[in-house]
Amino acid sequence: MSVLCYHKIDDDCADWNGIVTPTDVFRRHMEYIVENYEVLPTSEIEKGERAVSISFDDGYADGYYNALPILEEYGVPATFFVSTARIGSSEEDWCNELSRLIIEGGIRNNEVCACGIRLSTESRLDRRWANRQLFKFMLDMDVESRNREMGLLREWSGTEGRQPRRQFRMLNQEELKELSQSPLVTIGSHTVNHPSIGRLSISDQLYELAESKDLLERLTGSSVTQFAYPFGGLSDYSEETMDLLQRLGYERAFSTTRKCYRRNSPYEICRRCVGNVAINELKQAIKSQWNEQFQLEPQQE
Ligand SMILES: [Zn+2]
Repeated sequence: MSVLCYHKIDDDCADWNGIVTPTDVFRRHMEYIVENYEVLPTSEIEKGERAVSISFDDGYADGYYNALPILEEYGVPATFFVSTARIGSSEEDWCNELSRLIIEGGIRNNEVCACGIRLSTESRLDRRWANRQLFKFMLDMDVESRNREMGLLREWSGTEGRQPRRQFRMLNQEELKELSQSPLVTIGSHTVNHPSIGRLSISDQLYELAESKDLLERLTGSSVTQFAYPFGGLSDYSEETMDLLQRLGYERAFSTTRKCYRRNSPYEICRRCVGNVAINELKQAIKSQWNEQFQLEPQQE
């Protein structure tokens, strides 16, 4: 089995030389997957020997407008993991905005000084590196300190007052309800505030897991039993998080890591993040995950 994680179809990072639109790329992905694999919902992924599951993180409006019509065209089930505090928001979240500020803003500045460190922003490679470093620092910050740093970075980049990018708009309540009504769609929780949950106190973790489940169940009228860890790495959740999920009635949780605390646990199902990648890369992503999680022999061409 192989679980793929998308964020949004209309992705800025799409780099197909402008030949096709991001929507076309996703359509090609679905076409390739239904032709070559069994496709199962994330709740039944173990049932297929060589099955693929599709999931989307964060809750972008893009899921409803761009992904759903294509999923319906190919009859592909998908799970959408939604962070509830961002429902209805048209702001970009801090990590998306950070990468825009560092990678695309402040081009005429040769260095950035933030979070107490100084980093070069001369080349595109430098800016990517700076973005990664600042992201790591900010992940550990409380909301207030992070907001302060973001304010300074907006000034540095000279993009204050710029409108948030349209494709980063989140689903509003109506759109979420309509999305959830498709027989192909399952809604899962992705916390309330999208924190790196393993870094929080147990009571804050409990709030993130319980409150988001509760709200999503009220909005969709269905029980929410699946969860995806924000950021999804091994340091973004803990054994305690997994126990809390179980106590609250969640049945499975998805990471994006290739390692795990408990092998074969339903609370640590690995996923592979794919964006608008070419079919060859998609194929590799699917196959590599098979081999890693279940130690199967590499498939022969
Ligand atoms: Zn996320």
